[in-house]
Amino acid sequence: MSSGTEIKVECKLFRTGYCRQLEKMARRDAPLRPASFYSLAALIRHPEEGLILFDTGYSAHFFRETSRLPYLLYRWAVPVVFRKEEALAEQLKALGISPGEIRHIFLSHFHGDHIGGVRDFPEASILCSREAYDHIREMRGLRAVRNGFVPGLLPPDFDKRVQFIEDKERFPFRERYGVFDPVFDCFGDGSLLAVRLSGHAPGQYGLFFVDEERGPTLLCADATWSLEALRRQVEPHPLTFAVMGGRREFRRSFLQLTEFHRLNPSVRIFPSHCPEAAALAEGVKG
Ligand SMILES: [Zn+2]
Repeated sequence: MSSGTEIKVECKLFRTGYCRQLEKMARRDAPLRPASFYSLAALIRHPEEGLILFDTGYSAHFFRETSRLPYLLYRWAVPVVFRKEEALAEQLKALGISPGEIRHIFLSHFHGDHIGGVRDFPEASILCSREAYDHIREMRGLRAVRNGFVPGLLPPDFDKRVQFIEDKERFPFRERYGVFDPVFDCFGDGSLLAVRLSGHAPGQYGLFFVDEERGPTLLCADATWSLEALRRQVEPHPLTFAVMGGRREFRRSFLQLTEFHRLNPSVRIFPSHCPEAAALAEGVKG
């Protein structure tokens, strides 16, 4: 078994567009006004495994695949502001990284704003939870839309490229950090640990690692929408659960995350739609 997380990685966050939504949906005590929720993705450089993505954000595929009903309903429900140069693949090209250099993509869950860019990286293996994939894999039409899933965003060879988190070695994370179980060791070297944060979507996983610059870091996906909500322990508005479902599971993960933050205050936590995290992220200017 691997001995710990001493392998450090580099991590860069990217903004890939944003949606407009009532702030109250994300934090029940927030004012009733629209706010921008950025969709973040991350590029991780592992010393041996090379370049890895955590989620992929919005992309041109997202707009093509949601241009007709029923998938257009997704865009009506969640209006998105996006310019094509904000696609993760385009931002990486601007940094001199070609799509073919991405070796792995870690998908936290299958909502459209997280899997939007997968098809831009045809060479990458895909790492996701079997639990999450089994939940959506047969979904089409309205049922898919209601679950935030747009089937055409997944590449046709997905089944050939996928590896499941649950097939990786278990990592004794709770012994060290006091919370979260199960946690899986993505590469068997303790460097990237997949943390189960089910609830916002069934089988959602976050990613824990030690960043060269920021130290221990948890990309917690949508287990909370903001650090503010986490610090003050304010849950989303009840209406959010009417759309999203899984309130009990969400609350369980949210409480675990709160507890994790309390026990390990030095660990940086980045929720995928948090304004504070977005402020630290790379993005297209102007
Ligand atoms: Zn989501």
